Amino acid sequence: MKIERIRAFRMQQPFVDGPYRMSKGRVADAFDSVIVEISAGDMSGWGEMAPLGTFYSAAFAAGAEAGVREIAPHLLGQDPRALTRLGRLMDTVFKGHPYIKSAIDMALNDLAARAAGVPLVTMLGGRDGETAELYKVVTHGEPDAMARNAARYVADGYRRLQVKVGGDVRGDIDRVSAVAEAVPRGTVLFCDANAGWGPFQARQFADQTRDIDYVFEQPCVTIDDNLCVRRSFDKPMVLDESVQSLEDLLEIRRKGVADGITLKISRLGGVSRTRQLRDLAVDMGLMVTVEDTGGAEIDTAAMAHLSLSTPAEKRLHAIAFHEWVTVRTARNAPPVIGGSRMGLPEGDGLGIDVDPDLIGAPFLDLAL
Ligand SMILES: [Mg+2]
Repeated sequence: MKIERIRAFRMQQPFVDGPYRMSKGRVADAFDSVIVEISAGDMSGWGEMAPLGTFYSAAFAAGAEAGVREIAPHLLGQDPRALTRLGRLMDTVFKGHPYIKSAIDMALNDLAARAAGVPLVTMLGGRDGETAELYKVVTHGEPDAMARNAARYVADGYRRLQVKVGGDVRGDIDRVSAVAEAVPRGTVLFCDANAGWGPFQARQFADQTRDIDYVFEQPCVTIDDNLCVRRSFDKPMVLDESVQSLEDLLEIRRKGVADGITLKISRLGGVSRTRQLRDLAVDMGLMVTVEDTGGAEIDTAAMAHLSLSTPAEKRLHAIAFHEWVTVRTARNAPPVIGGSRMGLPEGDGLGIDVDPDLIGAPFLDLAL
């Protein structure tokens, strides 16, 4: 079996709910998605990588497009099932920039699972549970509006909310207090600062929100600044943006900075590397969320397979990005059940039936 054709596409995926807002005026109107199709014989695998604007991670869609053009010629003629070897090959011919390799690695995983005749979740260690619980983001805004949105999401069936903080501390204390008052007891709250604070602000926030039950997500940029906050903080803490490599995960564990981690597929460079860190984190006793920076059905399916192959007792929550956007890329999608739980689509590989006609013309079409 060898790779005979690689196509790549770029697609704007506007948000259903309008602009996505984080603290400090960071805003995006759509995911700018790079989609890769890798074909061998009559079988295709699909992968997707979409950054959240240009401000969220060290990644941008035009960079992914340029990188895929560079790497794709090296993959033609290779066995798509040799996932680890192809990962090393990509790292050899193109140093760094893991996000550029993410959609390619995802497509290779899809294709390898299809070739093996199994759902990807089986290749990733095996399915544990029917569904993963979804969370909903309460984006940054006025306290009253955030409280109203939070109450609406709970009424829609969500039990887990991620409240965006990381801006002016006094305002964020009001925001989180308003949200906590608007939702019923038992609603799981994460306060995600997206590395927007230094220890000074994070401590002020922690002190003034002592009576609220929440998990603190990524208050500061560096692992050591987060450790500084952690030392005087008695609620659970998870790190997200700090987990960029295996070395980061080992440092977080060694220093005892966090109780859980959020793995983003594109930041780590694909499904294979995410699976590696996920398995290690689980073995080290950390709670895990597997998600990504954006995308539609393809990326959401990959997140669902990684989430549901994470042991249920270590799984935090998941996200359904295909519900965020106004466009479709496939004729099916991971099923969302009761508004707040996500299952897996039926079938081999990612289990979704991508329709190239929905995506548009490729920017790259290479064949042997
Ligand atoms: Mg986060």
